[in-house]
Amino acid sequence: MRLILLGPPGCGKGTQSQRLTEKYEIPQLSTGDMLRAAVKAETPIGLKARDIMARGELVPDDVVVAIVADRIEQPDARNGFILDGFPRTVPQAEALARMLADKGLRLDAAIELKVDEGILHERIAKRVAEMKARGETIRADDNPEALEKRVHAYRLQTAPLVSYYSKHKLLRSTDGMASIEEVSAAIDRILGNAGKGAQRKAARKPARRPKARKSAMAARTAAKPRKAAKPRKAGRKRASKPVPKAAGRRTAARRRGARKIRAKRVNKAGRRG
Ligand code: AMP
Repeated sequence: MRLILLGPPGCGKGTQSQRLTEKYEIPQLSTGDMLRAAVKAETPIGLKARDIMARGELVPDDVVVAIVADRIEQPDARNGFILDGFPRTVPQAEALARMLADKGLRLDAAIELKVDEGILHERIAKRVAEMKARGETIRADDNPEALEKRVHAYRLQTAPLVSYYSKHKLLRSTDGMASIEEVSAAIDRILGNAGKGAQRKAARKPARRPKARKSAMAARTAAKPRKAAKPRKAGRKRASKPVPKAAGRRTAARRRGARKIRAKRVNKAGRRG
């Protein structure tokens, strides 16, 4: 299972990713977490990303693409992964598509959690309070100014991914405003249906081959008596072209009538002359 969770900051991507990680036993690949770890470890990437992240802006595409490319090579990601916070731009999505295609892999779905922007501030404030209560360090970008920028960046750079994945027939949207349990159930339904859809597709495939369809039709025709087939054909013809036929008959009758009138006139003229 290879999934993308899509949605603005505070929409619940992290919560749902964690749950799906347990359910499908595949890792959650959060570029935000990876970048925060790099910042903490003061790696060259971390030093480059620190201030950008604190401002609530996006780290350059090449940096995150390189991180993800490395991460999906790890053995624990072999059976799948949940991408949380990546891709965030169309070029990132294109880079991901290339990465997967090179490995002969494909995405199962991009799940969009739809939320009203008004609720994001409330949710982030709740997250900050919970982190404080647990004695955890508060994220440098979990403040009103940075959040405003993160939402703006989402609107401008990430929201276009909704139509990108829709075009690629991978987008599945659900209401992220519902309770955690309801969102979880909706995602499970989406993933269950995605799986069933793929199975149905695979089951239908042989029947769709032209050769198979021809022979099935031939078998049906052979099984039916000829007499039964004739009225059906005649019925279809009448139903499809009633007007031209009737018009044709009328025209022929008129032509015959006109011929008779002409003949009468010629006869009369002959008699007069
Ligand atoms: P997140 O934890 O997903 O909210 O990400 C926190 C911050 O990390 C973002 O505001 C960005 O500065 C940076 N970041 C995370 N993922 C990406 C990404 N895919 N592209 C660019 N920047 C990212």
